[in-house]
Amino acid sequence: MILVSTRHAAPPVTFREALLGGLAPDGGLYLPTSIPPIDRQAMVSWRGLPIGDVAVRVLSHLVGDEFDRGTLERLTREAFDFPAPTVPIGNDISVLELFHGPTLAFKDFGARFLARVFGSLLAERGGRATILVATSGDTGSAVAQGFHGVPRVRVVVLYPAGRISPFQEAQMATLGGNVTAVRVPGTFDDCQRLVKEAFLDESLAGLGLSSANSINIGRLLPQAVYYVASWLAAGGDEAGDVVFAVPSGNLGNLTAGVIAQRLGVPVGRFVAATNLNAVLPDYLRTGTYRARAAHPTLSNAMDVGDPSNFPRLAQIHAEALDALRSNIVGFAISEDETRRTIRETYRQAGYLLDPHSAVGVAAAGRARAEVGEHRPIIALATAHPAKFGDVIREELGFDPQLPEPWRNWRTREVRALNLSDLNYESFRIWLLEAMR
Ligand SMILES: *Cc1c(COP(=O)(O)O)cnc(C)c1O
Repeated sequence: MILVSTRHAAPPVTFREALLGGLAPDGGLYLPTSIPPIDRQAMVSWRGLPIGDVAVRVLSHLVGDEFDRGTLERLTREAFDFPAPTVPIGNDISVLELFHGPTLAFKDFGARFLARVFGSLLAERGGRATILVATSGDTGSAVAQGFHGVPRVRVVVLYPAGRISPFQEAQMATLGGNVTAVRVPGTFDDCQRLVKEAFLDESLAGLGLSSANSINIGRLLPQAVYYVASWLAAGGDEAGDVVFAVPSGNLGNLTAGVIAQRLGVPVGRFVAATNLNAVLPDYLRTGTYRARAAHPTLSNAMDVGDPSNFPRLAQIHAEALDALRSNIVGFAISEDETRRTIRETYRQAGYLLDPHSAVGVAAAGRARAEVGEHRPIIALATAHPAKFGDVIREELGFDPQLPEPWRNWRTREVRALNLSDLNYESFRIWLLEAMR
């Protein structure tokens, strides 16, 4: 696979190079120069296979030329070791449950694959790496869990003390091993600033710092897999065209869907579902891209005011507003609609939605009602409802159960380090000492 930067001022690279590099040197995002379709007959014949087998086939098709077959197959199976079932909820809408991974959110798919490939490339090349991430909650836990136990890699996660939920903290700070959790006495922006400064600091070159953040192409490609698998589960060719409703923030998930469409999944259109941070729906309506400050909502992992994957989404549609408009319809869902969707879906279908997934289901309903969308809709459920138990309790009056491995999270020992101040120099000295 050959990839070029969305800013077109960096040399073309292979998938391996793009994965190790993260951001292109010109500051752009890597995008494949072409996405050859998978033979339709072959794809249809995968119906009934577990998602791990579908993943091996999709990812071999995309990047198989850069790995030996056995290695790619092993890494892919390790990453895709949990299911992604679809559940019908009425009105010809089904929910694709992407929250059965270790951190109970869809980011596990991308983070686990990226971590395993990253570890494997390091083993080949020799050397070690330190993944440094700042998080406001969800990304850090997916990255920490993804890289946990991967040889030659250490992970340092910085998060704002007291500003993430106790459960989110437990997901990062009880792992131990190669994962170090660091409480920062400030905001997410303070964490981000320390991380950015560290990346520019030549005195830290020996640590092999890397970011593994959400713009890494190694996180995006594996996300195309569940679009293929869910179309097959919906009936494959017998289902006809399907529509995907995608709860969106940085637009990585939606971009992965468009990649799956290029691979040959017959997607009638995408429904881009945002909360009040409606950058994409507004762009589709007005034709003007307007970044803004993020506004806090119930679906906080989608509180994004300048979606990082927008350049990819635009470029994969040849920068043509018409092409984007005919492929994607956008809806911004209010907080009231989100709450109402949680209540009504539970009352009518007995199905529990977390606030992010509720935004997707609400947008699916609006696509039915407002643009006459009559085809089957698959709404992506991006987080487990028990991750957002407070909202469920407010709307439905009970606490949703966490899945088995997490039921005892309150008893796990939190081992986070406390950064004493926000001074970069103290952080630098601490980091050098801790990573020796
Ligand atoms: C990250 C996240 C999203 C948004 O996904 P993008 O790829 O950034 O658009 C939606 N829901 C949940 C639960 C998330 O963690």
